Amino acid sequence: MKEEFLHFIWHTRQFDQSDLVTDYGRRVTVIQNGRHNVDRGPDFSEAAIRLNNTLWAGNVEIHINSAQWYEHGHHHDPKYNSVILHVCWKVRGKIVREDGEAVPQIELHDRVESELLDRYEDLNYAFATIPCERLVANVQERIVTHCLDRMLIERMSTKAAELRRQLDHLKGDWSALYWWQLCRSFGGKINAPGFEHLARTIDHKLVLRHRKNPLRIEALLFGCSGLLDVMGRSPYERQLRYEFDLLKRMYDLSEMDPSIWNFLRLRPGNFPTIRIAQLAAFLKDRSDLDPVLFVTDNMQGMLSKFKVRASPFWDDHYHFNKKSARTKVKRVGGSMAHSILLNWLFNLLYTRAEVHNSESMKERILSWMQDLKFEENRVTARFNAFPMSSRSMADSQALLTLYNNYCNLKRCTRCMIGGHIICHETKSYKYLETPD
Ligand code: SF4
Repeated sequence: MKEEFLHFIWHTRQFDQSDLVTDYGRRVTVIQNGRHNVDRGPDFSEAAIRLNNTLWAGNVEIHINSAQWYEHGHHHDPKYNSVILHVCWKVRGKIVREDGEAVPQIELHDRVESELLDRYEDLNYAFATIPCERLVANVQERIVTHCLDRMLIERMSTKAAELRRQLDHLKGDWSALYWWQLCRSFGGKINAPGFEHLARTIDHKLVLRHRKNPLRIEALLFGCSGLLDVMGRSPYERQLRYEFDLLKRMYDLSEMDPSIWNFLRLRPGNFPTIRIAQLAAFLKDRSDLDPVLFVTDNMQGMLSKFKVRASPFWDDHYHFNKKSARTKVKRVGGSMAHSILLNWLFNLLYTRAEVHNSESMKERILSWMQDLKFEENRVTARFNAFPMSSRSMADSQALLTLYNNYCNLKRCTRCMIGGHIICHETKSYKYLETPD
């Protein structure tokens, strides 16, 4: 038995509430089971119960047994003086609060259907990476859709909260935030730290000031990245070095340690050299990095803004000092453009919508995500058994959130799909109507 299961049972009221009495023999009627508290303090706040004929409002604490009240030190903690009910799997002995009042207790272990417990254990002890994969076929598609909608909002809100913290760190400078995030998104997963360091090394205003001179933008980015050789072996590299040395003296620039860049286990097209050259191409002629300027009427128009081509030197190079066997234009491809669209444009616009309380903007962003293609990867492939008739970028992002925040941590009782599996055919199930 795990305490999280008891939280679920209490939260969803999946226990027999008839003739419920406390350890002191008082009749209990649950009026409101309260709000699940994920911070410190009692497990459920704003609960309401009737004890005999008296209405009580306060908090509810949940444990496997009575002794845990003392083991967790709640009898010394004034925060627990507002506990009106102690809910236990098994009640063993009386408990008191810090203010000396006895806390009424109820016991659940004879009040929960054994099938419910069995289904919980099926999920909890499953070895599969997605514990519900053999049970999910019984869940209606509308439940899966509803769960994924919630996951998508959780994903976007979490990202927005991260960006708002970064914005605070930047003292409210949105332009700097756009620049930092733009660089990060060109780095992809592997080189995001290097690109973020690059963004911190170069003031975005300097980049925009030199927007009319593509060679200078490249010199600035490559020079600060530490990837330019001091001597420069090709004429192109020597030219960049010359430009960068001028800029370095003029603006007191520093060069990063090149060991931050990762080339290992990357496709050559994703090498940081190529991504920096593409970032330079993207910055050409940009006087402002406000994401709103990149919004167009249609998705293809938005994507095309990111499909920039690195300068011609890179057609037959992946490194400065080595010519490649084949010539290929190094244009940002479809999946990278999707990734920049999501991680830069959508995340920033969603953050702005949260700051300005614009629900219509948020809905617009979520609907754009419905129009973009589903991302096939190792994680999303694990959900092939899920009843889903349509698949879009919104779904793949929701599945990644579901996997990382719930399936992988075995938090099935906190997931809408898990709730429906555990409470299968239980008519009183109200999980959908009682979001946390
Ligand atoms: S968290 Fe939800 S989706 Fe994931 S395995 Fe558990 S029940 Fe299934």
